[in-house]
Amino acid sequence: MAESATLLMARRSRELRAAGRDIIDLSLGEPDHAPPPFALEAAAEALRGPWHKYTPVNGYPDVRQAIADKFRRDNGLHYSAEQVVISTGAKQSLMNVIMALIGPGDEVVIPAPFWVSYVEQVRLAGGTPVVVSSTLDEDWKPPVARIAAAITPRTRLIMLSSPSNPSGSVLTAAEMQELADVVLRHEELYVLADEIYEHIVFDGKHLSLGTLPGMDERVITVNGLSKAWALTGWRLGYIGAPLWIAQAATKVQGQFTSATNSIAQRVAKACVEADPALLAPMRADFRRRRDLVVAEVAKIPGWRCNVPQGAFYLLPDVSASIDGKQIKGSVDLSLYLLDKVGVSLVEGRSFGAEGTLRISYATSDDKLTEAMRRVAQAISELA
Ligand code: PMP
Ligand code: GLU
Repeated sequence: MAESATLLMARRSRELRAAGRDIIDLSLGEPDHAPPPFALEAAAEALRGPWHKYTPVNGYPDVRQAIADKFRRDNGLHYSAEQVVISTGAKQSLMNVIMALIGPGDEVVIPAPFWVSYVEQVRLAGGTPVVVSSTLDEDWKPPVARIAAAITPRTRLIMLSSPSNPSGSVLTAAEMQELADVVLRHEELYVLADEIYEHIVFDGKHLSLGTLPGMDERVITVNGLSKAWALTGWRLGYIGAPLWIAQAATKVQGQFTSATNSIAQRVAKACVEADPALLAPMRADFRRRRDLVVAEVAKIPGWRCNVPQGAFYLLPDVSASIDGKQIKGSVDLSLYLLDKVGVSLVEGRSFGAEGTLRISYATSDDKLTEAMRRVAQAISELA
């Protein structure tokens, strides 16, 4: 299994910074905003309460109920509290479901570009990732017909990240419906809908695949506190799923981590009960930064990008800067930029999009401007 490419670049950046280098880290997908004060208050209050012992493996019942209520309020998804499982980050939520559903011989269709961990998690479970590619000109979304063509009798699961990490692309309602139609044509085919960026959509409202007719038995919805509430370190994710899948995920979790940290669960209750309107300023920040980075990328000769509708990533096609000699691929290019000008980006190969680099713009406007100035300078010296 490969080391996570995102975490690897974040580690390198930390190491170089510790060694005294001036590094601008645009590798890690982590909001720079402070967590909301009410969440920290909830944590402080929980410390004074009776929340210090093992919790039920799937999480405290009242927190699962609050999550079920959030799914109904924000997403129109109708999960009962028994269908909710709380885990140590959305990463564990995904792993639990993949371990529960996938074994040797099972195929998982993964539209590319994909989040790095999907492929490795499927491999860890013994399954076979089946990657379906797309191009920048397709807005980094494989047409549903291409996804359908990759489905075989052994396919059990399709991974869906919308808004997407790493491209920021969002599936339209029509594309969601097309995908649902394909899934419903196959028995025992499920979709892991990773909605961790649901609140970072710039135009229109996020749509949950599980709300489409017939899909409630086919979709596992994943979400968490990391992105919306800037609580990456608290490690809290959750799923809503068909009951048997929720029970199987709970069984897996019971052997790995028991339950999630009790205090983080109390914080989760406060977050899912909070008004999502509180997130509007954060969304506005990300939109402004998206526009900033898109404009800077457009100035670099040969670099091309789309205008993502969500999340906080840009995935420019940088193949014009790959000459096959000094710079053999996106890995070389990311190492060149880190070494030459101290800007840390993630190479696209690990997202299934060789010839690209991922820019996480979840940092201040000043840092973004300076980072893009340095990148443009380093690229001009390559030519
Ligand atoms: N899914 C996607 C698409 C992500 O970008 C991330 C990274 N945060 C996760 C899941 C995992 O999030 P968490 O921090 O909750 O484990
Ligand atoms: N999901 C974020 C990213 O893609 C955080 C790092 C990770 O968990 O991979 O950068």
